[in-house]
Amino acid sequence: MTEAPTARKKGLFIRTYGCQMNVYDSERMADVLRPLGYAPASTPDDADMVIVNTCHIREKASEKVFSELGRLRDLKAQKRQAGDDLVIAVAGCVAQAEGAEIMRRQPAVDIVVGPQAYHRLPEMVARAARAAASRRPGTMKGAGVLDTEFPVEPKFDHLPAPTTVSGGSAFVSVQEGCDKFCTFCVVPYTRGAEYSRPAAAVIAEARGLVAAGAREITLLGQNVNAWHGAAPDGSTWTLARLIAALAEIEGLARIRYTTSHPRDMDAALIAAHRDVPALMPYLHLPVQSGADRVLEAMNRGHGRDHYLRLVDQLRAARPDMALSTDIIVGFPGETDGDFDDTMRLVREVGFAAAFSFKYSARPGTPAAMMARQVPEAVRDARLQALQALLGEQQRRFNGALTGHTVPVLFQEAGRKPGQLLGKSPWLQSVHADGDARLLGQIVDVRIVAAHAVSLSGEIVAGDFASTRTAAAKPIEVAA
Ligand code: SAM
Ligand code: SF4
Repeated sequence: MTEAPTARKKGLFIRTYGCQMNVYDSERMADVLRPLGYAPASTPDDADMVIVNTCHIREKASEKVFSELGRLRDLKAQKRQAGDDLVIAVAGCVAQAEGAEIMRRQPAVDIVVGPQAYHRLPEMVARAARAAASRRPGTMKGAGVLDTEFPVEPKFDHLPAPTTVSGGSAFVSVQEGCDKFCTFCVVPYTRGAEYSRPAAAVIAEARGLVAAGAREITLLGQNVNAWHGAAPDGSTWTLARLIAALAEIEGLARIRYTTSHPRDMDAALIAAHRDVPALMPYLHLPVQSGADRVLEAMNRGHGRDHYLRLVDQLRAARPDMALSTDIIVGFPGETDGDFDDTMRLVREVGFAAAFSFKYSARPGTPAAMMARQVPEAVRDARLQALQALLGEQQRRFNGALTGHTVPVLFQEAGRKPGQLLGKSPWLQSVHADGDARLLGQIVDVRIVAAHAVSLSGEIVAGDFASTRTAAAKPIEVAA
């Protein structure tokens, strides 16, 4: 799509909360609004339109959204006094779950758009503009345009393909939604049923991104390894086959995928970690709990042993495989013994990184109605103990790389002048002094110091290096 030559430049500020899928969606919203003359603004003050792209996973998420909307309402009032305007839009999972409530509680909001309707944003902006033209002077009311339908036609067919790449790394959304209905989670209600994009669309988008400078592509999905898309030959591929096809794109050096579910980790995908050199030796595989009875109450559809078997198989396929995970503590009914099982599982696996959460009841989910909710103080204590162990494992994992030379994809300027920031194959952040021309390139770096969540290194070579040279032996992290 090309920009209309007459369109006046307008500022667009997008505030993104939550996961990488939201980051990807925010970029797509910016792309779909570009032909209307919207260009990135650095602050809401400089913007003609602000989109708050929300996440419903965290506790008090909607309260935070309402306080942000209150601030935007004040900004809109100031702008209207000065003869300007501000279009306020709310997107993402809170928009999907609480769209009507948002319109009722904050009437200054113009647009509420659910995750399946982003391709219809231009039409919604036009409706908001028509409403603004017929508005009574002095009113603070927004346009009241709401679209939280789950349309039959997939939004991906209607969104422009991403065209810009910064720092050599790009995301491609391949799968959306979830049919698994874990009892604690809102995603199946806010993102709808599982949908897999066809392989040809994914490959075309990846080719375009590599042509625009991507050396690394991360495939995204709420259940990315449940992907099963229509293949160019009319068959259905699984994720392993898609990864093999992407690995053939010349210039694409790194492939990642997130987030995976243990139930969908099939033999072919495990084998891909052995057979596809571009597939990075790092996997985010949420376990949620180490206790079978909690996993069952969560409706995860797998037990502790299944998870541990997968870890063994992955490490057999790729000895330097690093794992990260998500863990919830204090799920309703979780006993001290259950929590000990989680700590034992963490010790047994040895994670390179992890996200750990206190269980928080999400309205409308089955777990919110379960008896035996765990007291706040107990959840706090368990989270603290778990995070101490995970932090120790992460420090040990990072420390094991000191003195090794690893290939780093430099993605952005570091905080200090002359410093670059990049990622190792195991997704660690690596700082090194270097020329900005190395941004977007994979460069050998000798690690000289390890910190809690990052590494410092010195560039030793400017040529491209194999990811397999860095860790000839497995990296030990198990406590
Ligand atoms: N699809 C992924 C999976 O199956 O693991 C995770 C998706 S969810 C967006 C990200 C993480 O948020 C989950 O893995 C879980 O640990 C956490 N989470 C989701 N709902 C939660 C809740 N009600 N309380 C605490 N943590 C929660
Ligand atoms: Fe939520 Fe479970 Fe689906 Fe993950 S698999 S998105 S945790 S319902």
